Amino acid sequence: MASLPQPDPPWLEGLNPPQRAAATTLEGPMLLLAGAGTGKTRALTARLAQILATRAAWPSQILAVTFTNKAAREMRERLRALVGDAVEGMPFLGTFHATAARMLRRHAGLVGLTASFTILDPDDVERLLKRIIGEAGLDERRWPARQLAALLDRFKNAGKLPADLDAADAHAFADGRAGELYARYQAELRGLDACDFGDLLLHMLAIFRTHADVKAQWQARFRHILVDEFQDSNAAQYRWLRALAAPAEGGTATLCCVGDDDQSIYSWRGAEIGNILSFAQDFPGTRVIRLEQNYRSTGHILGAASAVIARNRGRMGKTLWTEAHAGEPVAVIGVWDGPEEARLVGERIERLQREGAPLSDIAILVRAMFQTREFEDRFLQIGLPYRIVGGFRFYERAEVRDALAYLRATLAPADSLAFERIANTPRRGLGEKSLARLAAFARTAGLPLQTAAGQLAETDELPGPARSGLRGLVADLRRWRALAPTLRPPALLDLVLDESGYRAMLEADRSVEASGRLENLRELARAMEDWPDVESFLEHVALVMDNDRDDAGEKVTLMTLHAAKGLEFGHVFLPGWEEGVFPSQRALDEGGEASLEEERRLAYVGLTRARRRATILHAANRRVYGQWTSAIPSRFVAELPDAHVTREMTMTGGASLWRAAMMGEDDPFAHVARGTGRGPGWSRASAQPQHARTIEGRVLASTVGGAPRTDIAVGARVFHQKFGPGTVTARDGNKLEVAFDHAGTKMVLDSFVQPDAAV
Ligand code: ATP
Ligand code: MG
Repeated sequence: MASLPQPDPPWLEGLNPPQRAAATTLEGPMLLLAGAGTGKTRALTARLAQILATRAAWPSQILAVTFTNKAAREMRERLRALVGDAVEGMPFLGTFHATAARMLRRHAGLVGLTASFTILDPDDVERLLKRIIGEAGLDERRWPARQLAALLDRFKNAGKLPADLDAADAHAFADGRAGELYARYQAELRGLDACDFGDLLLHMLAIFRTHADVKAQWQARFRHILVDEFQDSNAAQYRWLRALAAPAEGGTATLCCVGDDDQSIYSWRGAEIGNILSFAQDFPGTRVIRLEQNYRSTGHILGAASAVIARNRGRMGKTLWTEAHAGEPVAVIGVWDGPEEARLVGERIERLQREGAPLSDIAILVRAMFQTREFEDRFLQIGLPYRIVGGFRFYERAEVRDALAYLRATLAPADSLAFERIANTPRRGLGEKSLARLAAFARTAGLPLQTAAGQLAETDELPGPARSGLRGLVADLRRWRALAPTLRPPALLDLVLDESGYRAMLEADRSVEASGRLENLRELARAMEDWPDVESFLEHVALVMDNDRDDAGEKVTLMTLHAAKGLEFGHVFLPGWEEGVFPSQRALDEGGEASLEEERRLAYVGLTRARRRATILHAANRRVYGQWTSAIPSRFVAELPDAHVTREMTMTGGASLWRAAMMGEDDPFAHVARGTGRGPGWSRASAQPQHARTIEGRVLASTVGGAPRTDIAVGARVFHQKFGPGTVTARDGNKLEVAFDHAGTKMVLDSFVQPDAAV
């Protein structure tokens, strides 16, 4: 009697042939190279289950590296569902950092640390570097600690120790002193029995170099090494993997790396796409497996994403197909401005909710953190629960809190918490001792800190630098307080940030993080535009922050495109697809073609997070420093193929003005002008979003970002959503210069006007 075919074990069920090969071929090096949503992570998890279930290795003999701790937790849970308790005791399932830290604890003595060494977080690192910079006789304002921290991180990602730096490296900071400061920093760390994230790998690499026995021990231990998101590994990480994966004598270590060159988005943190390219050479006999069937997304989403990424030249190239139905085309929606973008997304989410979509299956993916503010304000207003992954809520971010503290200390001299927060930020010579003395004096005198500071600064109680620092601050606060009633809220903020040196402190710092902080401060100014005075704005913030404390329950996810790697959602919103936002200004200014290609990979990552529906938004106007500027749709919008997208444009912003005109109001802009007392009045119109936008959801098909329209010539009468009626005086591509009857002469996009006859 012929034996019946064995049923598949649960972890192999439903896998396609190449996935199955990846899961069951347990000999030799393997590279699983495939596009988004093709089941790479799923195949990797099946491979782990196969190893455990067939006892190819004990749980402790497996090194499995994921990109985030969250991904590691998910993998552990999926494994538990597949193979049960066999997953227990997998100490080396985690991120590069987590697994390396675990190894290093066992050998800490070899690099002069104890087994209980501390791992410093970036804040600690910065504080330590500040001290070192000061002790080296350098001015920290000129040579900021954060910049040095970023530089050292780069060296470490590249696997460079102080001795490995070349002249160019050394000159990257403080006129050639980078190496000296780096060495000093490492010595300090050792003295503190501490290391930073980069050291976790570098110390192990150093130990491998000097202690062959330790290296052999680990090589013998790890029978299987698995790495997800390999395209974003850096040089140090790859070196570490190579050291571990080289089979020791008699060993059979196998290395299986999984990645997608099209999703490499961390080059700014030292990721080396080249690791994928050199893998097959570094590991002779590598079996390369490619997956081409996408299981995640609908046909339209996949078609749109594939077309965008096809524009990149530096890629390996691959085909993707899906059996899924075409689904709905990707929606590209042109909106009037940021508030409308947030309002529209809020509405669509509420609609999805009514249709039964869980909020946890909905995500808004932004290019830069500052973009979350508009959505947070809107969601709090309509009571839509959200969470921010990979960062703080807007008003909780350090620089935003600092700025708010400056405003509070300006307007409310009794707010001692605010004063304490800003007293020595940026640094003005007030050490811990001076601050403690000030606090003690305030307490005994029963005075708010700021008042006490004013008095103390006139005495000789404090050392000279602290005294003059304090005196300067108190005088600044007084001056700002006197000016406050004469300034619009954002202008007061700008004054305070400029005169306090706070903005200069961030500007001196060229790191990516600092530019994100500056963006957040600009966004804060934008948020303040909508408020008549700073007090009511501060009250709004306090109320907003009081809201939504509970962490349980269904929530919409707001996160950056970077943080969304590897995840998937039923519905994805991609706002801010405008030149200068996405692609980012930094990429446009600094990186040339390579940066642009990385931005395009981000677009690909964003689109491919969506299972059912992707919605791209771009605003025609953004407020920059209190001025409206027209925004140009992202080049990626134009790169989306018509076959897979619908393009539409909302008319809500102008429609209410139009209605007001039709309803017989003499001058539809009259209320607007009255609102501000200064011209041009229209800018206040959208400062009061509720007021100006009462007609919901009128959507017109249009050619946003497309060719100039031909139906509008110079001399034509047109109606613009925001500025009302006017006469075209010139045209430049799809931009029109229009002399508006009520709003003066403006440059506008032709897609936002209609021939007057149509109105
Ligand atoms: P990314 O590149 O975004 O990390 P990925 O290649 O790792 O994606 P997975 O997350 O593993 O892809 O899989 C994407 C989706 O497809 C998941 O929902 C997964 O469960 C599903 N999937 C993967 N393989 C199969 C399969 N053989 N049959 C059915 N569904 C599958
Ligand atoms: Mg994955």
